[in-house]
Amino acid sequence: MKCLLSVKNLNAGYLTETKLVRAVRDVSFDIKENEFLGIAGESGCGKSTLAFAVAGLLEHPGKIISGDINFDGKDLINMNPEKHRKIRWKDFSIVFQASMNVLNPVMKIRHQIYDAITTHINISKKELGKRAEELLDFVNVLPEYLDAYPHQLSGGMKQRVVIAIALALNPKLIIMDEPTTALDVVVQRSILQEIDELKKEHGFSIMYITHDLSLLVEISETIAIMYAGQIVEKAPSKKLYANPLHPYTNALMTAFPPLTGKRERLEGIKGYPPELSRVIHGCAFYERCPKRIKDLCNKDPLPFIEVEKGHIVACQLYSKEGGK
Ligand code: ADP
Ligand code: MG
Repeated sequence: MKCLLSVKNLNAGYLTETKLVRAVRDVSFDIKENEFLGIAGESGCGKSTLAFAVAGLLEHPGKIISGDINFDGKDLINMNPEKHRKIRWKDFSIVFQASMNVLNPVMKIRHQIYDAITTHINISKKELGKRAEELLDFVNVLPEYLDAYPHQLSGGMKQRVVIAIALALNPKLIIMDEPTTALDVVVQRSILQEIDELKKEHGFSIMYITHDLSLLVEISETIAIMYAGQIVEKAPSKKLYANPLHPYTNALMTAFPPLTGKRERLEGIKGYPPELSRVIHGCAFYERCPKRIKDLCNKDPLPFIEVEKGHIVACQLYSKEGGK
């Protein structure tokens, strides 16, 4: 399958008056056409920064420091902002955290969908109506809600509408950053399943970000685990689930972090993620890792080891130096 998005050695962060918070550190991954990539990690590990950077929406004090982002053969890093804005929404779209709040409370759903479409393409009024109905149908919302206002919809329905809007222009890639986090787990799961069915039907790729690894395991084809701004393990879902290699992935598997709040303790792992403005040598999980190798794991360079095809882990336990 053709590669659609390729991110190479991406570094991004926030330049405050006193420090540089390196929220995305040397991140590389690809998303193929029709692939569902899930990215999981605790709150504060840089997931949203990564989504914003890829989407070209990282605003001051946020900054891409270095790296390459190639989407569908186009260099996004050096693209002029006007052109970037055009391909955003049309070629790829984004559903953000708490994005159901982006619906305009005084505008009927119908007009919000119309606006999303007509900003980018010319289409007749009749076709517009048909398309809006079709989009709501995709996300299992009845057409009568086209003439409702957002407050007349439940949280799950609002989130479905936002997803319908993201689908409006048949994008090749949809970036979803914790799109369902505000909803209860059962609704989250059913929305995720629906997204996956839509993906199979319409053929687009998904980059789905969540702090809840359990949500991804059944649906995502590939999972990347993020810790302190880095992807520490990446594998086909089934492999990751059956054989998690990184001690952090293991910890995530057994203890899911709470739904809200920052830098919370993971059950079973002592300590907290490192301050991202600090220079980190070697593995960022070193301080908390039950399997760390002294004088090796806290030294540069951090190895990225392909243990088997498609299963990559950034951990010395699998390196020659670490005894493998
Ligand atoms: P996640 O989405 O995984 O919760 P974020 O990408 O939101 O993580 O944040 C990553 C890190 O960047 C955190 O340490 C956060 O405090 C920091 N950060 C986010 N936004 C800003 C900002 N505007 N200025 C400084 N630091 C920020
Ligand atoms: Mg986030």
